[in-house]
Amino acid sequence: MEDCIFCKIVRGEIPSEKVYEDEDFLAFKDINPAANVHVLIIPKKHCVSILDADSETMAKLPQVVAAVADEMGIKEKGFRLITNSGKESGQEVFHLHFHLLGGQQMRGLIG
Ligand code: AMP
Repeated sequence: MEDCIFCKIVRGEIPSEKVYEDEDFLAFKDINPAANVHVLIIPKKHCVSILDADSETMAKLPQVVAAVADEMGIKEKGFRLITNSGKESGQEVFHLHFHLLGGQQMRGLIG
């Protein structure tokens, strides 16, 4: 996807603060953090949202989340994992991503 900002990050055309990478996933710090720890976890292969995600990649997501949360020091303390899908959710970047949020007591719509 030529114009997709997260595909550009995957290709190294736009800088990012990477915290994790493997052959299928990349995780980097959100440029506009909403919590003390705010990392975006993305599949390298482009898809728009959870609705068109590749099932093989998605099967790997829990282990990637665990690795990133561990790397960020929030695996044991706790964290939130959020994905937006579609306009009404507030999705702004149309490349599937999971917001990993933590490093503080989380409050908001849930909890
Ligand atoms: P969403 O509203 O779920 O689509 O979230 C998109 C997220 O991407 C927002 O939290 C932005 O702050 C973040 N974002 C946009 N551009 C970049 C970038 N170049 N590097 C890191 N995070 C970004």
